[in-house]
Amino acid sequence: MKDWNEKCAVVGIYNAYNASILSYYSLFSMQHRGQEASGISSSNGEKISTYKNSGLVTKVFDENTLKKLQGNSSIGHNRYSTAGEDSIDDCQPIFAKYSLGELAIVHNGNLTNAKKVRKNLIEDGAIFQSHLDTENLIHLIAKSHKHQLVDRITDAINQIEGAYALIFLSRTKMFAVRDKYGLRPLSLGKITNPDGSVGYIVASETCAFDLIGAEYVRDVEPGEMLVFEGAYSKHITMPKSIKIFAANPKPCIFEYVYFARPDSKVFGRNVYEIRKKMGIELAKEHKIKADMVIPVPDSGVAAAIGYSRESGIPFELGIIRNHYVGRTFIEPTQSARELKVKLKLNPIAEIIEGKEIIIIDDSIVRGTTSKQIIKILRQAGAKKIHLFISSPPTISPCYYGVDTPDKSQLICANHSIEEVRDFIGADSLAFLSLQGLKNSIQNAGEEKFCQACFDENYIEDLQE
Ligand code: AMP
Ligand code: SF4
Repeated sequence: MKDWNEKCAVVGIYNAYNASILSYYSLFSMQHRGQEASGISSSNGEKISTYKNSGLVTKVFDENTLKKLQGNSSIGHNRYSTAGEDSIDDCQPIFAKYSLGELAIVHNGNLTNAKKVRKNLIEDGAIFQSHLDTENLIHLIAKSHKHQLVDRITDAINQIEGAYALIFLSRTKMFAVRDKYGLRPLSLGKITNPDGSVGYIVASETCAFDLIGAEYVRDVEPGEMLVFEGAYSKHITMPKSIKIFAANPKPCIFEYVYFARPDSKVFGRNVYEIRKKMGIELAKEHKIKADMVIPVPDSGVAAAIGYSRESGIPFELGIIRNHYVGRTFIEPTQSARELKVKLKLNPIAEIIEGKEIIIIDDSIVRGTTSKQIIKILRQAGAKKIHLFISSPPTISPCYYGVDTPDKSQLICANHSIEEVRDFIGADSLAFLSLQGLKNSIQNAGEEKFCQACFDENYIEDLQE
């Protein structure tokens, strides 16, 4: 049973002029990773200030709130969560004062042993303020008897299990940690300040680097902690690397399928290139004759370009997306979700009428989106509709920080492909194979990915 899964964006800025504004822009560029709430903590070397609220980044922050977040280091978070309370306590960063000073934390992922750890802490007298599994870390750090924060964080990390890309901000230092499987992405970039001094950024996706003019350096390695120190000295060096765990990389393949922005580099590779290749592989696996290939915007665009290129079938933007509507997935009830598809997508009848079309999307989760899309395409006069999906059927939920619904709601987990085709009303339905998906990832070689939502092979040590 999962309840507090977080699929989010995190950013950390160290030793940069107006760090909170850089965090703000970074969070803005990563808005697709979470639209429910947003928050930033900043430090001026003496004090950490935090501001967080529910809503989109541009709604949460304005000039005044950002002005109050002073200092040259900061961390930020966008929250994406479909369950739980809608309270500010459940937004991040989480902030606390403890015996060594002040600390703020942001987390992308899901801690699989969180309930057990929390129960032990509560039995030991801890008082919790939120439902967040991340709050465990504050308590574990506060309780550690080590004298240095770096050792306390290491102590705490050794007691948690699961998927995490974590950033800790103290008054003078910043720490970035990735779990040993590297399930969630976290990259390191270099900032050149206006006076020529150097600063650093760590972020879930590199599209944040592009927006603030930072240069990609490398990924934070699985099992690695980066320690940023020396701010205010003007000549800070590269962050110190500490191996906390031996790496056992299993990065999340779904980042490539759906989650990340196509202009980002994730796990060292550009996402757009991979999605286009998924379309090419899909065309190799499922060849048919049709008048045109149409993407479901925006999630199917790159794969549809690949499919069209490989098959020679013309690409058309036959469905237009209204960008001013949020994602449909976050709506709590089924009927609201259906309405939102209509609000968001509108086919161009003049292009589609009387035609046999291939529609490309990245995944089928509940099947609601596809069903509605097929319906509006029929209304627009399509003669035959083939729905091709650029990933395998999603048959199992994610426990590592991507918010897929329970198995009971995953249509492909409970029905055959023919039943799903019948439900969504397509003339044919096809999926990319898992091998095809792997083939799309350049230089994947023997590299292992987590693909549990497609094959149910969960990581053995991470069972809830
Ligand atoms: P559904 O109507 O539930 O089948 O939703 C499928 C659509 O949701 C696809 O077009 C995907 O682009 C998108 N999607 C896939 N996985 C997720 C996810 N974890 N969170 C939000 N949207 C998703
Ligand atoms: Fe990613 Fe799926 Fe693994 Fe979750 S189960 S980490 S979504 S591949």
